Amino acid sequence: MLNLMATTLSPGATLAKRTCVFDRLTASSPNIKSATLTRISTADLRLLFELYDKIFFDHRFTQVYQGRLKFSLSQRMTKSAGKTFFPRHPDKISPGEMTIEIRMGTDFFFKYDEIDCDKTVCGITTTSALEAFLLVFEHELCHVIEFIHFNNSNCSGKRFKTIAKNIFGHTASYHELPTHRQIARVKYGLKIGDPVTFTYEGKKVKGILYNINKRATVMVGDKNGNYTDKRGNRYTKYYVPLEFLV
Ligand SMILES: [Zn+2]
Repeated sequence: MLNLMATTLSPGATLAKRTCVFDRLTASSPNIKSATLTRISTADLRLLFELYDKIFFDHRFTQVYQGRLKFSLSQRMTKSAGKTFFPRHPDKISPGEMTIEIRMGTDFFFKYDEIDCDKTVCGITTTSALEAFLLVFEHELCHVIEFIHFNNSNCSGKRFKTIAKNIFGHTASYHELPTHRQIARVKYGLKIGDPVTFTYEGKKVKGILYNINKRATVMVGDKNGNYTDKRGNRYTKYYVPLEFLV
């Protein structure tokens, strides 16, 4: 069997190949035209995979793996920036029936430029949303490679780390992209527990900032509210975009 892990690249060679993927993607994708990400489709993920297979693996990927690769996007991933799903019992499936799915979150990349801070991905300092996206995609490809060869994959394991280091120069298995909480703190000076005010149906409403995700969760005192705290105070919950809070 051809081996996808037989690739060991120098840092310079990896960077040159990644730059080539970057350039070809922005040249071919109808959605991605620069280093900033504002739109992406699953067809872009398929294209990205084909570019990696060609530029990093000389088309060996499609020769080694007979199963199906599925690509999906999620707007809801708030911790991981990418995820790979494998069959639970690969030994009971014939190679041709295997399906592995790479799911990429979009949120971290669409909000990449919101604040200035260190944006390290897989141990590499990134300077653009697309560069960060490629590194996360590479991490997921390493999961696929490890799974194809060993029927399991774990990015905290030594074997995974060796694959990721040899092919892509990754030195860590996590990202440090800004979260909504960091953006709220740096850009809006807001943190959980802060008193906040916003306008709802033309009226000023006061509440407490209870959680921060894509939108802020604000608890507003209301004697008919559905939520009760330990002291028996009742609240109604509102979801408010961060920029509408003062
Ligand atoms: Zn992982």
